[in-house]
Amino acid sequence: MLRRIFIGTAWPYVNGDLHIGHLAGYLIPADIFSRFCRLKGYETLMVSGTDCHGTPITVEADKRKITPQKLVEEYTPKVLELIKIYQITYDLFTSTTTENHKKITQEFFLNLLKNGYISKEKSYQYFSPEENRFLPDRYVEGECKFCLAKEQRGDQCENCGRSLEPGDLLNPKSKLKGTQVILKETEHYFFDYPKLQKEIENFVLNSNHWREWVYKETLGFLREGLKERAITRDIDWGVPLPKEKIPENFLIENIEEKRFYVWFEAVIGYFSATVEWSEKNNKSWEDFWLDPSCRHYYFMGKDNLIFHTIFWPAELIGQQKGYNLPYFPAVNNFLLLEGKKFSKSRGVHIDSLEIAKDYGVDNVRFYISSILPENKDADFKWQEFKNTINNELVDKIGNFIHRVLVFYNDKLCQKIEHQNLDNEVLKKTNEILKNYEESLEKCQIASAFNLILNYVNFANRYLDKEKPWHSKNKQKNEEVIFSSLQIINHLRILLWPFIPKSMEKLDKILGFSLEPKIGKNYFNFQFLKDIRLRSKPEPLFKKI
Ligand SMILES: [Zn+2]
Repeated sequence: MLRRIFIGTAWPYVNGDLHIGHLAGYLIPADIFSRFCRLKGYETLMVSGTDCHGTPITVEADKRKITPQKLVEEYTPKVLELIKIYQITYDLFTSTTTENHKKITQEFFLNLLKNGYISKEKSYQYFSPEENRFLPDRYVEGECKFCLAKEQRGDQCENCGRSLEPGDLLNPKSKLKGTQVILKETEHYFFDYPKLQKEIENFVLNSNHWREWVYKETLGFLREGLKERAITRDIDWGVPLPKEKIPENFLIENIEEKRFYVWFEAVIGYFSATVEWSEKNNKSWEDFWLDPSCRHYYFMGKDNLIFHTIFWPAELIGQQKGYNLPYFPAVNNFLLLEGKKFSKSRGVHIDSLEIAKDYGVDNVRFYISSILPENKDADFKWQEFKNTINNELVDKIGNFIHRVLVFYNDKLCQKIEHQNLDNEVLKKTNEILKNYEESLEKCQIASAFNLILNYVNFANRYLDKEKPWHSKNKQKNEEVIFSSLQIINHLRILLWPFIPKSMEKLDKILGFSLEPKIGKNYFNFQFLKDIRLRSKPEPLFKKI
């Protein structure tokens, strides 16, 4: 069955270097899934880009006394380098600063307005008398009125996870100046979520294939009842409003001084990026957004959960154009470092580029795959990193492949007369292929990874039991090595989504390569006959 898959990954803010939590939270899981879909023969589109607007950018730019534009220009190349080094298979990685994104964001807004989901309301926002300006929520810090956690930002409480409105902080202060801020009236556009409560509820109730905790957390937010949320802010950095296209009676005061709020606008990037990709490649964006059989997967950390399970679906439903809604939000928990939250200023930090240079991309990808935070927070531990690479990747996977290829090359001179496949090997391979496919179809990447380890343990046990290097039975030895070569052939397919670089190296030795093609499914058992090694087998992995 031919299927279309859309993959959207969280849009990283370009206000700092991406640490290894970003790799574990969305980049690597999304890439594994994308590579799986491509090997499965699905028509796959993966897009994202840099999130350049909003207060995370302006706060950092203010701190550094440079313009937001300058900050964006400084960090964008680093993000691009990271994506390249880690071989993340984006079909398009763009940015929210494009003209295309601006145009489409404005269209989304105008549709919502036309369809009756937008109201204009006066509300109170944080205002700094000292600086004589409205302060975005992120510039304001105080105590969360719900859980009383201190030093929370104006837009979200990291402790209880609630998104906060102005006034939800006790004792609010300006983050830059440290002075008291007040609430002052200003006019903004609001998204009428209560109007969509029922439709969002139906959408979520029909999505009980989500990870259980994601499903429950989303229902929890819905039970509290959706509230109207402002989608514009008093800020000068961001996508402006299409003033000339808004009916006069719907204009708000000082509209030129407002911008779309970044949470409203960045998610539209999934859509605008598809349009950009389609224009650049002469393809159809409608195939991915209007064909109801196309499934949409999103990868993100848990701080982005409600934006993808409630707010983005609401923006899509509100278009009334039948756009595809998220099929699976692959929300991940956080990655900790030796039990602590990442924080560059407190020295709890691993730079993604540096660790790749020091230990190799595939070692990092392999270890992260072994600790994915799918259902609970995961912990990066240096000792465990070393053990996982040395014991699993080198001693089990690398060693099996190497032993087989060396025996094939040195003892059998790459000739096998008796091409008999061991029954157990056939049975096990089929079982692993089936379970691996089923796991990844459900985005259970951690269990797919464990199946590979399980398969390799089986393979090593098989070889150790048969001991071809101690046996003089040529026919039997040929059968064992022939069967083991079949295992290697399938291992490279199963491992390619996880450690692509190493598998490309293995393919060079074997003299063939994986070429994902729409309609071609690599997960059916395939016999390899008469392999000619292109070079002398070298160990694929090194201990660290
Ligand atoms: Zn709180």
